[in-house]
Amino acid sequence: MANTPLTPGIAPSRLSAEDLARNFGDLHPPLDGHEAAVAADRCYFCYDAPCIAACPTEIDIPLFIRQIQADQPAAAAKTIFDQNILGGMCARVCPTETLCEEACVREAAEGEPVQIGRLQRYATDTMMAAGEHPFTRAAATGKRVAVVGAGPAGLACAHRLAMRGHDVVIYEAKPKPGGLNEYGIASYKTVEGFAQREVDWLLQIGGIEIRYEQALGRDVTLDALRDGHDAVFLGIGLPGAYGLDDAGHDGVRPAVEFIAELRQADDLSALAVGRRVVVVGGGMTAIDAAVQSKGLGADEVTVVYRRGKGRMPASAWEQDLAASRGVRFIHNAQPVATHGNGTVREIEFAYTEEDGPNLRPTGETFRLAADQVLLAIGQWLDEAPEGLERDGTTLSTQGAGRTSLDGVWAGGDCTHRGEDLTVTAVAQGRDAAEDIHATLMGEG
Ligand SMILES: Cc1cc2nc3c(=O)[nH]c(=O)nc-3n(C[C@H](O)[C@H](O)[C@H](O)COP(=O)(O)OP(=O)(O)OC[C@H]3O[C@@H](n4cnc5c(N)ncnc54)[C@H](O)[C@@H]3O)c2cc1C
Ligand code: SF4
Repeated sequence: MANTPLTPGIAPSRLSAEDLARNFGDLHPPLDGHEAAVAADRCYFCYDAPCIAACPTEIDIPLFIRQIQADQPAAAAKTIFDQNILGGMCARVCPTETLCEEACVREAAEGEPVQIGRLQRYATDTMMAAGEHPFTRAAATGKRVAVVGAGPAGLACAHRLAMRGHDVVIYEAKPKPGGLNEYGIASYKTVEGFAQREVDWLLQIGGIEIRYEQALGRDVTLDALRDGHDAVFLGIGLPGAYGLDDAGHDGVRPAVEFIAELRQADDLSALAVGRRVVVVGGGMTAIDAAVQSKGLGADEVTVVYRRGKGRMPASAWEQDLAASRGVRFIHNAQPVATHGNGTVREIEFAYTEEDGPNLRPTGETFRLAADQVLLAIGQWLDEAPEGLERDGTTLSTQGAGRTSLDGVWAGGDCTHRGEDLTVTAVAQGRDAAEDIHATLMGEG
């Protein structure tokens, strides 16, 4: 992917190759066998385990930890993949501190949960490294399903449908699969091309064809997909990024665009970054943009969020990670204007006060010097297929992802349900696949 044209203050090669390698190295290095055994020993194997309920894919966590303890990592991996076929990626990217590990009884008792995420990675990596795929396809049903989008929702749906014996064609707008696993998630969470390796591994099930650079609405219509297939699943994510009313300066861009460029870069030293970077937003995208800007060698990186610290969508753990990498936070301020002469020089903010759910400016403003401004203020479904009911900026669904059109299901970020997380998208793709299967087989 090409860099955007350079603007003054935004330059490549700010750090040495060694510094870049350190800054973008694996955030949670894998456990070895001995470390995994020690970590597994801490589990109480709770009856009615709260960690299971806290996992959107409801993995049987005590069972897989017991299997690791018994030195059966392949069995542990199968337990994980039964519920979550992207269990390898989720082990790397799930905010476990707000999901299973937050619910772990040892977190409540001692402030030190069982390391569920790292144990999950140990099990899934072991099986994937052995090149094993634990599932086979059921007898062919003769049904064909179109899946739109090869992100976590689409891939999870496609895999489950293929397992149930259906033939699946995935229509993907981009030249690579993986969705935000490939183009969005921070590099230090998924190193060494893991997103592509995981897709290759998942496709070993067979029966899934991916057609790249085939965008719904551009290259193919929903009517044609409905005519040519027995069912359609939409897992198209949220392709549009919100901007500022006043963003008419070079150097101001969506954070997701900056991150996608970074994720596709073969050489990080060729990637341009500002000296003074301001990130607007308070979610994972804001944190990732800030930490990675710092990692590329920006001198000052400031995240500005419109509400208080406790209201930031990014977890406290993620905020601490950013702070530990030298990122500064300003809370209760929202952007009102950018200033410069063609190129951004400053960004102006108004301080805010919270009044229940509402925000109001206090009347006080301030400016931050900036040669790069990254906007992480949300994404939306900019082009929804016609004929589908919406719920605000996302698709409206019922039950396991049934849309307002017969034979069309949807899941993941493009729908209004659940948190926008990889694991939630996987759960919704999987559940929609089971509902599609039951419907096609006359069981639903
Ligand atoms: C910067 C960033 C960092 C994140 N970090 C984390 C994290 O650390 N942990 C976590 O759990 N979650 C994280 N998330 C959220 C997570 O990535 C998403 O919730 C998840 O990827 C949603 O999966 P999805 O399949 O619904 O959508 P996507 O991953 O967006 O995939 C949608 C796919 O559909 C394709 N597509 C779109 N439109 C069309 C079309 N018209 N025709 C054909 N194909 C189309 C896209 O190219 C893409 O491949 C992050 C998100 C961002 C933006
Ligand atoms: S809550 Fe913690 S201790 Fe209990 S089963 Fe889950 S991981 Fe093990």
